[in-house]
Amino acid sequence: MASYYNEHTVLWLDGKILKAADTKTDLYGQSLHYGYSVFEGIRSYRTAAGKTKIFKAIEHFDRLQRSATTLNMPYRYTTEELIKASYDVLESNNLQDAYIRPVVYGPANMSFNPNTESFTVIQTWEMAPFLGEKLLRVMTSSFQRPNPKGFKIEAKAAGHYVNSIMASHEAKGKGFDEALLTDMNGFIAEGPGANMFFEKAGRLHTPATGNILPGITRATVLELAEDLGIPVEQGQYTPADLKQADAAFFCGTAAEVIGWHSIDDYTFPISWKDTQSRKIQQAYKDLVIEKQPKLETI
Ligand code: PMP
Repeated sequence: MASYYNEHTVLWLDGKILKAADTKTDLYGQSLHYGYSVFEGIRSYRTAAGKTKIFKAIEHFDRLQRSATTLNMPYRYTTEELIKASYDVLESNNLQDAYIRPVVYGPANMSFNPNTESFTVIQTWEMAPFLGEKLLRVMTSSFQRPNPKGFKIEAKAAGHYVNSIMASHEAKGKGFDEALLTDMNGFIAEGPGANMFFEKAGRLHTPATGNILPGITRATVLELAEDLGIPVEQGQYTPADLKQADAAFFCGTAAEVIGWHSIDDYTFPISWKDTQSRKIQQAYKDLVIEKQPKLETI
């Protein structure tokens, strides 16, 4: 297992910076027993100018608040307070390129009654940017994403990730790198922890919202595509549509923008470096480190 903390690491717990190794959680906690907590996955980068910058910090903490309130959890902090706390933890842990994990969780409560209190923790660990240069071999999962009539699918709730973990285990167990899940109607939805786009004849396509977690990276890709003049359509697509595509990629905070080699036994025909998707990947890399665009040379 990866090492997320050592004896020097600190975290932020409800207003206090504490040593991670000294903190504890309640084994009678409702969140542990029932998967009833909400969280975020955020990244900070060392920018081209050498500063530490949390990418889309407001969007992530606003989503954390929406996730908590959607699930009827008491929410105690403002986005501004949690952004400041995140920078404090990063600095105390001497991190620039990092993953930031806030979690809002409940107290000891074995009943299904609503809570009047919640706890908020912010953990950080080192994460080097852009390790994922290898193209992924993806498998269409036998698992579907949770039915939005059974879950608040747009909330980033811990319990949803049992579905993600099962799908990822299945794909890796069969020798693939990652899973692609369909929605309850059999349309392409998303990966276990990332949204997806595919490219056909120079156009990008991505599953519409409704049955997916609407990712902040997905929104960023839509903006970048607009800037780059790459047309994008959002719709309902079948696994068969994907098997006629030229290229595809996952996008998410952790995954960033990562191209696919294949889906099941279908290998994408266009070399990644020649795709529009690759241009999006490069633009994303530049954006997160605030690299100034190169002046066009004629
Ligand atoms: N879908 C799921 C199921 C995810 O867990 C994530 C990661 N948060 C995403 C999509 C991508 O979201 P984002 O771009 O906001 O990280």
